[in-house]
Amino acid sequence: MASTEAQIQQLPAASRGKPAFDPEKITVIFVLGGPGAGKGTQCENLKRDYSFKHLSAGDLLREEQDRPGSQFGQLIKDYIREGKIVPMEVTIQLLENAMRAAIDDEGKTKFLIDGFPRKVDQAHAFEASVCPSKFTLFFDCSEEVMEARLLNRGKTSGRADDNPESIRKRFRTFVETSMPVVDEFSAQDRVVRIEANQPPTAIYDIVKVRLAARGIAFGS
Ligand code: UDP
Ligand code: MG
Repeated sequence: MASTEAQIQQLPAASRGKPAFDPEKITVIFVLGGPGAGKGTQCENLKRDYSFKHLSAGDLLREEQDRPGSQFGQLIKDYIREGKIVPMEVTIQLLENAMRAAIDDEGKTKFLIDGFPRKVDQAHAFEASVCPSKFTLFFDCSEEVMEARLLNRGKTSGRADDNPESIRKRFRTFVETSMPVVDEFSAQDRVVRIEANQPPTAIYDIVKVRLAARGIAFGS
C-alpha cells in the first residue's frame, strides 16, 4: 500500500496547474480569524440571508476523519488535537470536492470558505488550483474574548480541541502561521477587517454593511 505521503501527492488538486473554477462565475470569500473569533456564527447568519454556500474547512476535515475507510482519518485526528495544520493537499481536495458538489447539485455560485487558508502556501495553492478569491472577511478578536468563547463552547461542542491545552496551541498556530495570510492579502487590499470583540448581532450589522460596500447586496 502507498504511504500516506504518496497518497496525498496523488490528490488531483495537488498537481493541477490552473484553477478548476472561473472567478468570473464563482465567488469565493475566505473567512478568517482566530479560533473562537466568530467565523462559524457569522457564516450561519450569512447563509440564512444570502445565497452563499458555507464550507468550513475544519468541519470538512472532521467529517473526513470520521468517514469509514478514509485513508487520512488518523492523520487528521492527530493534527487537529495538536492544533496543527493538516497537509494542505488534503484540505484543498475536500474543499474542491464540496464546491463541485454544491455547484452541480445545488446550483450554488457564491462560497464562504470558513477557516481557510490558514497558511500562506495554502492560500497560493488554492487560488492557483481551485479558484482565486474575491476577498477575505477577517474577524479581528482579542485572545481573551476568544478563549472565553471557546471554553464556553467546549462545554457542549464535543470537540477534542476545545480544551485549554489545545486552545493555547491553536492560538500560537494562528499568530505564527495564519496571520501572515491576512497580512499578505491586506497588503493587496483584499481584506475586509471586522472588529469582533463585540456581541454577534453587532458584528453582523457591520458585516452586512461592509459586504454591500464590496458589491454583495443583502439577500443576494
Ligand atoms: N484545520 C486545518 N486546516 C484548515 C482548517 C482547519 O488543519 O484549513 C484543522 C486545524 O488543526 C484546526 C482545526 O482543524 O486547529 C479546527 O479548525 P476549525 O476552523 O474548525 O476551528 P476554529 O479555529 O474555527 O475554532
Ligand atoms: Mg469554526
